[in-house]
Parts: sequence; C-alpha cells; structure tokens
Amino acid sequence: TELDHIRNFSIVAHIDHGKSTLADRLIQSTNTVSEREMKEQLLDAMDIERERGITIKANTVRIEYIAKDGEKYILNLIDTPGHVDFAYEVSRSMRAVEGSLLVVDSTQGVEAQTLANVYQAIDADHEIVPVLNKIDLPASEPDRVREQIEDVIGIDASEAMLVSAKSGIGIEETLEAIIARLPAPQGDRDAPLKAMLVDSWYDPYLGVVVLVRIMDGVLKKGDQIKMMQTGAKYGVDRIGVFRPAMQNVDELGPGEIGFLTAQIKQVRDTKVGDTITTEKKGCEKPLPGFKPSIPVVFCGLFPVDSAEFEDLRDAIEKLALNDASFSYEMETSAALGFGFRCGFLGLLHLEVIRDRIEREYDIELITTAPSVIYHVFMKDGEKIDLHNPADMPDLTHVDHVEEPRIKATIMVPDEYLGDVLKLCQDRRGIQEDLTYVGGRAMAVYDLPLNEVVFDFYDRLKSVTKGYASFDYQLIGYRQDNLVKMQILVNDEPVDALSMMVHRDRAEMRGRAMCEKLKDLIPRHMFKIPIQAAIGGKVIARETLAALRKDVTAKCYGGDATRKRKLLDKQKAGKKKMRQFGKVDIPQEAFISALKMD
Ligand code: GDP
Ligand code: MG
Repeated sequence: TELDHIRNFSIVAHIDHGKSTLADRLIQSTNTVSEREMKEQLLDAMDIERERGITIKANTVRIEYIAKDGEKYILNLIDTPGHVDFAYEVSRSMRAVEGSLLVVDSTQGVEAQTLANVYQAIDADHEIVPVLNKIDLPASEPDRVREQIEDVIGIDASEAMLVSAKSGIGIEETLEAIIARLPAPQGDRDAPLKAMLVDSWYDPYLGVVVLVRIMDGVLKKGDQIKMMQTGAKYGVDRIGVFRPAMQNVDELGPGEIGFLTAQIKQVRDTKVGDTITTEKKGCEKPLPGFKPSIPVVFCGLFPVDSAEFEDLRDAIEKLALNDASFSYEMETSAALGFGFRCGFLGLLHLEVIRDRIEREYDIELITTAPSVIYHVFMKDGEKIDLHNPADMPDLTHVDHVEEPRIKATIMVPDEYLGDVLKLCQDRRGIQEDLTYVGGRAMAVYDLPLNEVVFDFYDRLKSVTKGYASFDYQLIGYRQDNLVKMQILVNDEPVDALSMMVHRDRAEMRGRAMCEKLKDLIPRHMFKIPIQAAIGGKVIARETLAALRKDVTAKCYGGDATRKRKLLDKQKAGKKKMRQFGKVDIPQEAFISALKMD
C-alpha cells in the first residue's frame, strides 16, 4: 500500500469516556468483521477486561475504509489502556502511530487521565483530532467541553467531532477526519529493514507474537531478522495483520503495523522498544528506545494451600511471559511458607494479576500488604533497596530511610474539594497547586507513594461519589521518619502484616490494624492478644475473647442436615485460612486489615 493511503492512530481518553465503544463502531462501520462476529468491546479480549470494563493491554486492528474520495485507505488503530497504572503501555504504542483521537465525554469534560494521556500524544508529536463523545445524552455540553479542551490542554478544538459512539452518530465524519487531518506515515521502501518492536506476548499455539511497526524497508516471511538490542536472531515464519483476528499477509511495508512469529520461546528475548532489522545488510542506527517500565508496588503472593506452590510458580511464569512489567522472585515467610515476592506497576495491575491467577489457574492466594521500595541507608554506609518490610534491618544499624514520592493531579467538582484536600492532608500530602478549570478544581499534591498504593484511589472515589479523577507520576525519593511496625497475633509476629509507617502515624495505624484484625480473626477456644509493635515496643493492643459455644450447639442435635451443612461451611471456611501458631487467620485479613476507614 502506498504510504499516503495509510493512517496510523490511537485513541486516548479518560476511563469510561467511550474509547472502546468508539473503536467498536469504527470497526463495525467499515465491515471489518461480520455482524455475527461483532460483539461489544471487541478489542477488550481478556475476561477481566470485559468484566471490569477496562482495557489493559493495548490492542491493534487494521481497518480498510473506502473514503468519500473513492480511494481505499488502510487505518491502523491501536487501542490503549486509560488507567494510570498502564501509562507505560500508552507511551509505547504512541511511538508507533502518527495521530490520536482524543475522546472526551461531553457530559463530563476533561479529566486527570485525559490530561496524562493527551500529553503523551503531544510528546510523541501526534496530530490530534478531538472527539466529543456521548452527544446523544441530554447532559451533553459540547460547547463547554470544547472550551475546556482549549483552556486546559491548549489545543484547537473548534473542529472537534461531535459523536455518539453508542448510537453511531458522527462515525463517518470521524473516519473522514482521520484521513484528512492525520498525517500519513513516512518511510523508505528501498532502505534496509527498520521496524519498531511495539509489544510482544506469549501465545500457547504460536509461541511469542511480536507486534511491529515498519519504519523503513519491507518485512517478508522467511527473512532472517535480528533484534538490535538483545542481538537475538530468528527466521520469520509468519507475518500478518490483526483484523482484529490474525490474518496472514505476504509482506509488511513502511508505515504498516502487524505481527510476526519466529519460533521465539521467551518474551524476554523481545524487548519492547527494540529495533528489528535483517541479519544481513541491516540498518545501522537503531530507533530511540522506550522508557522501561519499573515495578513500583511489591507484595507477596502465597498459595492458601501450600501444596499448590508449584502450580503457582507455573502460573506466575506464564503470566510474566506475557507481561514484561510484572516481576517476581521466590520468597519464604515463616508464617506463609513458600511464595513469591512480585512487583507491579500499581495496584490495579496487582489486582489484575492476582485475579488472573485465581481465576485462570484456579489457585487461591494470600496477598500480603503491598509495599513500595524504600531506600535504607545503613550507618556503615551501605544502601539497601527494601522491597519487603519484613526484611527491614534493626533500627540501631539504620542511619535513615527514604521513601518514593509522587506528584498527584486530582480533578474534582468544587463541592467535594474540601474532602479531597483533607484526604491528601491525612496521607501526608503537601499541596503544590490549586486551580480552577471549567467549573472543576485541579489540586496538585506531593504525596508519599506508600500512602497512595493501598486504598487512596478507593477512598478518593468514595469521598467524591466517583466524581474525582486521579493521575500520578513518580518524582523521586525523600527522607522521612519511617519505621517498621510489626503485628503480633497470640504473641507471634505475622511477617506478612509488617509494614513501614511514618512514626507520627504509627499509633493511629497500629490501633486501626488491631481493631480490624479483632473483627477479622474468628474466635478460638482461647483468648488471643493482637498487638502492634515498633522494635519490641507495643504501641497498640486488642484482645479477642475466647469462643464459648460450639458452633453446632444451636442446632440442638435435632436437624442433622442443618448440622452437617454448618460443619461443611466451617470446613470450607477453614480452607481459606492459614495457621499462625495456634491461630487461624482468614486470607481476607491480610488485605482488609490495611484498608483505612
Ligand atoms: P472506555 O473506558 O473509554 O473504553 O469506555 P467504554 O467504551 O467502555 O464506555 C464506557 C461506558 O460509556 C459504556 O457503558 C458505554 O456503553 C458508554 N458509552 C460509550 N459511548 C457512549 C455514547 O456515545 N453515548 C452513551 N450514552 N454512552 C456511551
Ligand atoms: Mg475500554
């Protein structure tokens, strides 16, 4: 295909503003798939994505469109995730395309993730076509939102598309705008092959599938290719495009986006951002690489049933094949046995991986308190990267501790601003900026990441009834008065509940933890003390009273089936518990105890 008949673009939006629905509509209106194959949110393939209604992995589709000028165009759409944890996926797919549709819900307006995502598009030098979506709704205010896009983002929105992705309004016009307003890709067909490795994942039937964008040259089946960064060499056995199902093609030329397979066994060999060229007569200079994704949140994953450890290893290895930003190493805990310490881009990422292990691999998990990486500076000059609070060295040897800080941007309607400021204050935030744009307040805070990873986002949503939007970026490390708080249940420390806290907030957190655990741990036949301690000093304490009655006592021995049911239920409940010394702790306790009300 001639370069001037190709357009490559992505869709950027805040979550729920209609990106996936618009993608569906673009695919449908160009008859890319038959009516029968068309199901809602076609690109969101994973079950979890469907259930949660979010897009996790960037997906690609090739659309053929006959424009009003009678010519046939090839449109390559890369659908990107909108959630803050997946900003990295957005940044790399941006480099593979020349333009973006900026979708803004015209009943809501610009949100924090609209900003974060559109800035990535601007960074990648995209031409941007604003799309005001959901104009079918009575609450739609296209004029206000158009003005807001101009004020806040600073791009011309006078020719924004008016669209209802749901009812199909403005779709034809949007397709025409893509052709008229987005630039065609550039590239030299006769130059040596230079392709960008945009993404890769493991497919059980095909091995590793590599998503590529051809910059120069032509990629053909049978080519001997080389990854410039890793030096790995392969023979290409299949190339094709996504429509959105895989379809083989003979070649991919400049400006095209498609996939290759080459008997690659490990996703590790295919570094996202690498440049692919031919082994002989290849190009000399690689493309500038992508910024690598770094895990920022760590937690332990342990099987509830220790016999499932090998299954868990298998599941984690498979998932890691598919997700370069997910890291893991083996961990042993006195209380929980064998498991893995895993690193994630953020909490949603953690939840998604945990869900997938439980659901796709049917392994029940205990998740320990999520933690960030602390820098611990020892008196002897050594510096330790602390991934697990349980490994915190004795305070007498520690000189000081630094923690990661973030810059958070929160957008919220005026009436909830007070609650948001209080929440940020409570989480040790430092206000950096407070402005008003289009009837909404925008607060910028410097916050410790550890106060955000756990339940900040949930709290923010609940105090603002879902009206706030939130985005953050890491800004670096700073020293503070941080200590390890231990939890002792029946006088035994439970490593999995250890956490780093600010000294000034330790009593409060300790008390809250003990109270929560008192509710979460079932009564036993004996009294159980629950304590929070810092370096041997108890700072909070609760006591769980002993159980008086046998659970089946109230059945009076009469109703045998009811009695059996009750016992079965108790047995099922047992399965989800782990023993700590003589005490059974239900798995929910590990997560719930850390949520603050
Ligand atoms: P995404 O998170 O940006 O991918 O958003 P989705 O495409 O999943 O859409 C979020 C919700 O908005 C879904 O319930 C859609 O049905 C709904 N939606 C999307 N576009 C429109 C539209 O044009 N009009 C109306 N009324 N609802 C829409
Ligand atoms: Mg979506």
